[in-house]
Amino acid sequence: MISVEEAQKIILDEIKQTAPEKVLLSQALNRTLAEDIRSPLDHPPWDTSAMDGYAIRISDTASASKSTPVHLTVIEEIPAGKLPQKILGKGEAAKIMTGAPLPKGAEAVVKVEETATDGEGVHIYTPSENGEYIRLQGEAVRAGDAVLKKGTGIRSAEIAMMASVGKSVVPVFQQPRIAVLSTGDELADLDEPRGLDKILNSNGYGLAAQVAEAGGIPVTLGIAKDSKEDLKTKITIGLTSDFLLISGGVSMGDYDFVLEVLESLGVTMRLWKVAMKPGKPVAFGTFQGRPVFGLPGNPVSSMVTFEEFVRPAILKASGRDKIFRPMLTAILSEDIEKRPGRRQFLRAVVSVENGEYKVCSTGDQGSAILMSLVKANALMILPEAGEIIKAGEKVTVQMLSEITA
Ligand code: AMP
Ligand code: MG
Repeated sequence: MISVEEAQKIILDEIKQTAPEKVLLSQALNRTLAEDIRSPLDHPPWDTSAMDGYAIRISDTASASKSTPVHLTVIEEIPAGKLPQKILGKGEAAKIMTGAPLPKGAEAVVKVEETATDGEGVHIYTPSENGEYIRLQGEAVRAGDAVLKKGTGIRSAEIAMMASVGKSVVPVFQQPRIAVLSTGDELADLDEPRGLDKILNSNGYGLAAQVAEAGGIPVTLGIAKDSKEDLKTKITIGLTSDFLLISGGVSMGDYDFVLEVLESLGVTMRLWKVAMKPGKPVAFGTFQGRPVFGLPGNPVSSMVTFEEFVRPAILKASGRDKIFRPMLTAILSEDIEKRPGRRQFLRAVVSVENGEYKVCSTGDQGSAILMSLVKANALMILPEAGEIIKAGEKVTVQMLSEITA
C-alpha cells in the first residue's frame, strides 16, 4: 500500500490550474489572484498629516515650551479632502486634520493637545522634530510596487489593499466545478420518502460543503444505485465537470462496482488504497486530464480523505500558492495506543493552555461516527509505526478550523 505522501504526489502531479477570469472586487473574497497586483499610484498620494493639529516649520517652534509658548499666525485651515491653498512662511501655521495634505513649507505637525488658540493665532507648547506626525507620500505603497502576489488567497485585508490602489476589477483563477456523486442502494436523500432499510445521504451534503469551503463550485449529482447501469449514467454526467468525487462503492464488497465502471468508461486509475486510517480504500484516476476521486463511503472516511487529497487538489487547481493546512506540534493530554500499520488521523480538539497547544481526541473514533468530526478542530496525525504515546508527549496536528477559547 502506498503512503499518504506518495498518494498526494500522484494526485497533485495530475492537477492543472484553471483559466483566469476577471471579477468585481466586491466578488473577489476567498478567490485566488491570477496575477501580481501593482499599484498605479503612491499611497498616501501626498505628504499627509497623521494628527489633528497644526502644520509648522520646525525652526519656528524650536524654543517652544509650556511656560514660554511660541505664537504663530494661522494662515488657513486644511480639512481632509481639501488641497492647501497657501505656502507656509516664517512664523506661520496651518490648522490641519488627520489625512489632509500637508502645505508646502511645513516640516512637522504639532498635535492639537500641545496647542491653544487665541482667535488670531495659535500658541505652540512644544518643539517638533523634522517630519513628526507626517505620513510621507508613497510611505505605504509606491507607484509600480507589486502589493499582492499571484497565487494569494484573497481575504478582507487583500480586498482593502486592492481598493486602496484603485483595483475595481480583479484577475482571479476560475473556481473548479466539482461533481459530487453518492453511491449505495441503502441511501435516501433528505426529504424523500424512505423505508426502514435506508440511511440518509450525509456524504453528498458534507462533501459539497467541503468543496465550497475549499473554493470549488459543487455540482451535486445525488445518489447512484449499486448497479453498473445507474453508475454508468451518473458517472458519465460527472465526468463533464472539472473534478468528479464519488463516495462509496470503492471497497471489496460484492456491490462495489465504482472502479470497474470508471475503467469501463475510460478513466485511467492511478491509485487505489492508501496506508491510512480512516480512508484506506481511496481511489484516484483521470479522465481526459480531469481528476476522478473514489472516496470511501463511511462518513468520516469520506471527509478525512477529502481533507488529505481533494482539498489540496482543489486549491492547486484554483492557483493557490499554499495548498496544505497548517501543521503544528501539540502536547497530548491523554495516553493513546496506536497499532502499527497505517497512519492514523484521529479527530481531535486543539486548545491553548498557558500559551501552549494541547490536544486530546474527540472520543469514539469509528469511521461512521460523525460526532468525532463535529467536535474536532484538528486531526491528530499518528505515524505508521505502532506505539503507546503518553500524556505529556508531543504529537503533530493538522488544523481544520479555528481554536476557540
Ligand atoms: P461503501 O464504501 O459503499 O462500502 O460504504 C461504507 C459505509 O458507508 C456503509 O455503511 C454505507 O452505508 C456508508 N455510506 C456510503 N455512502 C454514504 C453516504 N452518501 N452517506 C452516508 N453514509 C454512506
Ligand atoms: Mg456502498
